[in-house]
Amino acid sequence: MRIQLRYIGLIFSVLSSIFIVGCDTASPPPAYELNYTDGIMGTSFSIKATKLPVKVTAAELKLQLKTILDNLNSQLSTYEPESELSKFNQSSITTWQSVSSQLMIVVQEAQRISLLTKGAFDISVAPLVNLWGFGSESMSFTAPALESIQAIQQNIGYQHLHIDPTLLQIQKDIPELSLDLSSIAKGYAVDQVALALEAAGVQDYLVEVGGEIRVKGLNNQGSKWNIAIEKPTANQRILQKVLPISDIAVATSGDYRNFFEVDGIRYSHTINPLTGQTIKHNLVSVTVLNPTAMTADALATGFMVLGFEQALLLAEQEQIAALFILKTSTGFVEKPTSMWLNFIQEKL
Ligand code: ADP
Ligand code: MG
Repeated sequence: MRIQLRYIGLIFSVLSSIFIVGCDTASPPPAYELNYTDGIMGTSFSIKATKLPVKVTAAELKLQLKTILDNLNSQLSTYEPESELSKFNQSSITTWQSVSSQLMIVVQEAQRISLLTKGAFDISVAPLVNLWGFGSESMSFTAPALESIQAIQQNIGYQHLHIDPTLLQIQKDIPELSLDLSSIAKGYAVDQVALALEAAGVQDYLVEVGGEIRVKGLNNQGSKWNIAIEKPTANQRILQKVLPISDIAVATSGDYRNFFEVDGIRYSHTINPLTGQTIKHNLVSVTVLNPTAMTADALATGFMVLGFEQALLLAEQEQIAALFILKTSTGFVEKPTSMWLNFIQEKL
């Protein structure tokens, strides 16, 4: 049995599927007044502000943003055994438990997307993510036995998670329920940083955490932010297209960066909670544009699970700007939703 590992969690996210591209100009553009890159949540982040308000220093802002990101890490990460989320996962208490407002916001949005996607998106997929070797526990690099999948599926289902946003309490009605916020927490972190920048008076910024992006205003060349969508190929990093955008968030999900292969079969890190299997279809990448990065992040994963036909129906029905990339015998084919076309036309 040949096992081939391509990219795994921690290293993977540095190679995110959307990234920023520069422009060739005769004279170099002015440096960003804030240019902050580091690591968080088992991934990397990049924060750029074209200009800072007079009384705001980059050093102060960095400290403030680092505190925000560290707090989110200690609340939402499954890679931190002591995080608020990890403690909830480890507990087998089936009565109501108090949570932070941050955890509540993310879980509430996750549950909304689960309903919308009829369970294709489901944060209670955590035990399956671990069984398949894509979680915080060590990677197995083999497809699990059908019996193991079936046994674990009994412990999965967003219907087993109840939330009370007013009282800031959540409840699992089966002791084994465990949550994985990897497909939504990065987006939320982007939004929180963006809001903090706005509160500090920053008008022109780009925030990226693990490939999820939110932009506002203009870049250091006085134009919109150029965000590149990658061609969905595993071995090379080639541009599919460049989006000049502003005042919006963008998230891409794909099956071509984080996966392992056994005997020529690719097992992606996105799992269909209803079958317990990793996704297998011709939809290889989904990009979603949305005012918040949290929603874009979750929707992109939900659409990947649904597959092209169902995802397109839902995206049109909900008026979501999405670009689907399909793998066909003649190459990659782009399928935009009506809202995507509207947005791209309006904003260019
Ligand atoms: P991508 O950029 O491909 O969307 P993300 O890191 O944003 O990658 O989301 C993928 C992660 O989400 C997986 O590694 C796993 O932890 C989790 N996940 C997998 N399947 C699902 C699902 N059906 N619903 C919600 N989360 C999922
Ligand atoms: Mg995502």
